[in-house]
Parts: sequence; structure tokens; C-alpha cells
Amino acid sequence: MRAPSLKANLFWPLALLSVLVFAGVAAAGLGLLTAFDIAARNREQSVVQNGISGRMGEVAHMATGECMWDQSVRNLDNRFDPAWAQLNIGAYFNQSDGFAASFVMDAADRPIYAARLSDAVDPATFYQRFAGGAGSLVKEVRAAEALRGKKGAPVVSQALADAVQATTLADVGGSLYILTATLVQPDFGTVRPKGPRAPIVITAMAMDQAFLNSFADRFLLRNVRIHVGSGDVAQASGAPGAAHIALKNHRGVDIATLEWTPQMPGQVLLRQLGLPVLGILACLAAGVLFLYHRGQKIAEVLMTSEARATHMAYHDALTGLPNRLLFFDRLGHALHQMRRTDETIAVLLIDLDRFKDVNDTFGHPAGDDLIRQVGKRLAAQCRLPDTFARLSGDEFAIIQTGTSVSAAASLATRLAEAMTQPIELEAGRVFIGCSIGITIIQDAGIDPAEALRQADLALYRAKDTAKGQFCFFEIEMDLVIKARRSLESDLRDALAQGALHMCYQPQVNERGGMVGVEALVRWRHPERGEIGPSFFVPVAEESGLILDLGMFTLRRAFEDSKRWKHLRVAVNVSAKQLRMRDFAARVMALVHEIGVDPGRFELEITEGILLGDDPDTHDMLNRLRSAGFSLVLDDFGTGYSSLSYLQRYPINKIKIDQSFIANLGVEAESEAVIGAIVKLAKALRLSVIAEGVETAEQVARLNATGCFDMQGYLFGRPVGAEQIDESVSSVSALKK
Ligand code: C2E
Ligand code: MG
Ligand code: MG
Repeated sequence: MRAPSLKANLFWPLALLSVLVFAGVAAAGLGLLTAFDIAARNREQSVVQNGISGRMGEVAHMATGECMWDQSVRNLDNRFDPAWAQLNIGAYFNQSDGFAASFVMDAADRPIYAARLSDAVDPATFYQRFAGGAGSLVKEVRAAEALRGKKGAPVVSQALADAVQATTLADVGGSLYILTATLVQPDFGTVRPKGPRAPIVITAMAMDQAFLNSFADRFLLRNVRIHVGSGDVAQASGAPGAAHIALKNHRGVDIATLEWTPQMPGQVLLRQLGLPVLGILACLAAGVLFLYHRGQKIAEVLMTSEARATHMAYHDALTGLPNRLLFFDRLGHALHQMRRTDETIAVLLIDLDRFKDVNDTFGHPAGDDLIRQVGKRLAAQCRLPDTFARLSGDEFAIIQTGTSVSAAASLATRLAEAMTQPIELEAGRVFIGCSIGITIIQDAGIDPAEALRQADLALYRAKDTAKGQFCFFEIEMDLVIKARRSLESDLRDALAQGALHMCYQPQVNERGGMVGVEALVRWRHPERGEIGPSFFVPVAEESGLILDLGMFTLRRAFEDSKRWKHLRVAVNVSAKQLRMRDFAARVMALVHEIGVDPGRFELEITEGILLGDDPDTHDMLNRLRSAGFSLVLDDFGTGYSSLSYLQRYPINKIKIDQSFIANLGVEAESEAVIGAIVKLAKALRLSVIAEGVETAEQVARLNATGCFDMQGYLFGRPVGAEQIDESVSSVSALKK
């Protein structure tokens, strides 16, 4: 499983998002600052507009002092005194108030006096320059003068209640002037106008650079300039972003533009904060990149550890092979695939034969080493599409897809062969084999667990028949297992309900006298009738019922032995019983409870028990022997007969297996084998007895080899305890 690259997935969206955020913040900031500037400019423009109006009002007001004066009426109206006019109009207005020109108009609106700055000049000529702007003012004042007579109310200026005045901006030869026309009137009334039309004084204030500078100082304006002429106000503006207002004459006509450089708080803010803000944005971008990088690293670590955890959940830690979970998962997939492709699937279950011995003898590290090596060796036999898994301790399984019966058999053969080769462990060289169960899946709808169960049944059969073999699953195995299960439950009931009972088969000596009996258990089944132990003892051994069954037979044999004071009683003991730690103690407790002498009893064990030289078994047999029991090796010759066992274990007697007896007279070797066994027993000072003796000829041949103690149908079948006494004499007769 591979972690998908986060870099590829998230980098571009993240980068795009960063650019968008950056652009968004910048645009919003710039927009905000521009809005600041526009608002500030608009505010400044309206303040300047009001300022210009105010300044015009002030300029107009300057003329009222000289014009609304009794002396002015006397010297300009009643009679015209040019010297007075020069002193109080021309010189005064220029020197006191800074007017650039002044005029006195008579009752007929003719200029009778004119001053340029403070010097008197020819009125008619000089007035021509101002006549365009001043003429209409004079008309307004005359109209107001006429109305005043009727209404007695001021006309033009609200500030001067009694002044009759009109003012305007005018373009005079390309220069801008504030022109004011003021009617000459008395103030205290010591002199009265001579007629209905009084003289009018015209003043002209130049809006020159000096005027603009003082205006700018008052309103804190920068770069104030005037563009004289009508037209588009905006076009007059020279500098981008400059503020401007239209200057209008008293009729509302644009005649000039006042322009200046406005305060731009947004730009100031941008200059002052631009760099820090950019820095902050850069830091944020760096932070985002850093977090992204860290997040990516963390995500990669998480994905790696998740991948590792997933791998561990689905794989065996020791071998790295798929585990049971993954095996079932793959089997499920293979079955799913089978539904579509119809290919054949085989499930092979492999169990190592002597793994436990290696583990017990050399320890767990050696066992682990062995499993690892076996894993590699078996894996080498599989094809790539096959799944090779370790299910548990020494159990491996293979899912072979696209196979056939012969291909599965050939794989099993290769696996079995691979396992016949020795394995080199640090502890030494070991030989182990394996058994293999195979099921060929016919039905794609099968449950994976059921498929494994079938392979397990086949494995069971493979182990049962001969190790190192493989077996295919057959339906019949299922039936056997089912029958076995029902037998097991019946046997459990039988033990609890006392449906088992004992039979005793006579054992005779060379003179034919009954010297002992072998206790053989029987089961009287309610439906099946009498069932022999060959059938149900293995079931009892597998299910663990043998422990109860063993104690039952011992108890009954001990009890029944009291009936025959001079007979030895042989009791069969299974390997499972001997492996119980407290077996000896329990037997001795029974001995004491029933009150018997262990010296009268023989415990029959099979050679298999001695295999492996288990120290516990050794110890158990020694304890039983010390307690007085005799130990008999039953079915001798069929198992792993080994001379060394006979020497090492405290055995008293060998019981030659009935298969040799049955072959007496049929196969020539049988007699020789029996002869060798008898000689061996004698050399080791062991007693010997033959079982399964059915004919007189067998008796004769056994006698010839030196074996005289016997047991078999010839001397008596296993019978109830009551019949034993009666049989003794007839056995003797038969032997003759
Ligand atoms: P075994 O201990 O070798 O017992 C001898 C078997 O041979 C008995 O079968 C007996 O009936 C049979 N037999 C005796 N003489 C002849 C003969 O002349 N010809 C033939 N064909 N068979 C003969 P059985 O009673 O069916 O017992 C079978 C095995 O079951 C026994 O073999 C023994 O291993 C086991 N077994 C019997 N009773 C017990 C028991 O109480 N406990 C344990 N653990 N195993 C028992
Ligand atoms: Mg026996
Ligand atoms: Mg036997």
C-alpha cells in the first residue's frame, strides 16, 4: 500500500488560494486607501468652495467703509472732488486693502475717476478693460437702488444691511479679479444725495499669485493655481489626482478653475504602512508555507505509520508472510473472481510434522528460526499469483488459483519434497516433514472458512494415514467427522450414565493355566449395540474423555481383581493418561481407596509413548514402577521398536502384536521375527507374551520360538467378570 503524494494533491490548490488571498487583501487595501483619498479630496473641494465665497464676501465688505460715509456723499455726489477721490478712493483702496484698481461712476454710470493701483489714470480709457465684468454689476446696483427707494430693503449683501452692493469674479484680459460695485450712501445723514441716482464705486481685487498664496496659507493648500477660461473643469487640471473647483461669475458661468494638490491620507498611509503590510503578508505566506510543509511531513509520517500498522495487521511478524486475516481476505477475493472466470481454486493446508519436537528440544528461538526457513522454502515452490500464508504456529496455507487437480497434486508433491531436505539451524541439523490437506473448490459460493475446514479435514486424513503425504478432501471425510462428533457426545453420555462395562480376556502360561486377564472396556450402545474400544478409544483420546474413561477402567479392574486372588490383571493405559501430571497420584489414591496390591497389576502401554524420550514420561513410568505396577509394552513390533527404549525404560514385559501371530505359518519371516523378539526379551530379562492366538498351530510355533505365555480367542474371548472363574479349567484343557 502506498501513501498518495500530498504534494501533488494540495500544492496547486494551496498556491492558488495563497495568490487569491494575497491579491484580495492587496485589492481591498488599495481600494480602501483610494476611497480615503477621494473622500478627503471631496471634503477639501467643498471647504475651498466655501472659502472662495467667504473671501469674496470679505473683499466686498472692504469697500463699504469708504462708500457708506457722509464725506463720500459730499465729495463724490454733491460735488465731485477729484483730489478727495484720489486720496480716499484710489490711494486708500490700494494702500489699505490691496485693490488693484478702483473707479467712481457718476449718476449716469460714466467713469469719472479711475486708479490703477494707487495712481489716478484716465477713467474712460482704463474703465474699458473692466467694463465687460463691471457693467452688469453697475446695472444690478442701479436696480437695487431703484428698489430700495420703494422697499427700503438691502438687495445684494445680507451682511451689510444698508449696503447696496454687487460682486462677481471676472476675467479681465486673461487675469482674474473680484469686482465689486458699491453704491455711495451717507452713514450719519449729515449730507443728503443730490438726486435719485448716487455715484457707484467699483473696486477690483486681483486674484494673483499673492492672493492665492494667502488663501492657500489660510486653508493649508499646496500648489494652488488658477486656470482662467471657461470649459471642462477636469480638463483644466494638469496633474493627475489634483483637486479643483470651478470659479463662476455672478451669473453662474464657469470662468476659471482653481486647482491644487489635495491631501491624500490614503497615499500617506500606503507609503507609511505599505512596506510593513507587505512584510506581514510575506510572513503570513511564509507561515502558510511552513505549516503546509510541516503538515505534509506529519501527514507523511501518519500515512507511513498507518501503512506499517496495516501491514502488521495483515502480515505475520515472524515470517513477513500474509497472516490468517489476509489469507481469508484473499480467499474471498479469489472466490469472487471464480464466479466470473470459472477458474479452479485449490486451498492447501500444510502442517509441519515434528515442529513441536524441535521447539521442545532446542527451544523457541530455534523454533522461530525453523519457521522462518520453512516459510522461505515453501514460498519458493509457489507461483506469484498464489497466496502463501502462515495461519498459526506451524500451519501454513496456500491459495492456488487457476489450477487443476493434477497441478495442485504436483504443488503438494513439490512442497512435501522440499520439506524432506534437512534444515540447518544454529542448534544443529533437523529433519522435519509436513502433511498437506488439499481441497479443490467446486462451488464459488463456498464460505472461505468452510474451504479451510475442508482442507483441514484432508490434512487430518493425511496425518492419519502416513506423515509426509498429502490428501484431497472428499465428502466422505465430512461424514466421518460428523459421525465422530456424534459418537463423542454419545460417549460422554455413556460415561455419565454408566453404559460402559469391562470384559476380561484370559492369559495362560505354558501349561495352559490361566495366570492373568486383560481388562478390555466395552460400550453397550442403546442403538448400535456393543461397540469395541478400537472404535471409541481414539475418539475418547481426541476429545479428552480418555481421562475419565481411564479412571473408570482402572476402578473397575481394581474392584473386579478382588474376585480372582491369583490372577494378574492387565489394564490398558493410553498415552494421554500418562501425560497427566497427577496420573500416578490418582492411581495410587484409587489403589488405597479400593485396597488392592499394585504388584498384581500390569499397565499396558504402547511404544509411541516412549518416543521422544520425554523426561516427564520417564518420571511417570518410574513412579508407577516404584509403586509396584508392572509395565507391559503392548502391540510390540508395530511401532517404533527400539532397543534403546527397552533398555532405558523400566519395562517388565513385551506383548508381541497379534499381526505377527496371525502370520505364523503364512509368512515365513513371522516366525523368525517372533524368535528374534523372544531372544531380545530374554536377553533383556523381560517377560514375553503373545496375543491374538487363535490356533493350535500358532501355539506350537510360539512354543518353538520360546514363547509360552499367551492370550487369544483360542483360550477365551473377552468375557464378563462372572465367566472368568469358569473358564480357567477349560483353558487348561484346550492348551493340551
Ligand atoms: P489390545 O490392548 O491389543 O487388546 C487386544 C485386542 O485384541 C482386544 O480387542 C481383543 O478383543 C482382541 N483379541 C484378543 N484375542 C484375539 C484373537 O485371538 N483374535 C483377534 N482377532 N483379536 C483378539 P478390543 O477389546 O477390541 O480392544 C482393542 C484395543 O482397544 C486394545 O488393544 C486396547 O489398545 C484398546 N483398549 C481396550 N480396552 C481399553 C481400555 O480400557 N483402556 C484403553 N486405554 N484402551 C483400551
Ligand atoms: Mg492391551
Ligand atoms: Mg495389543
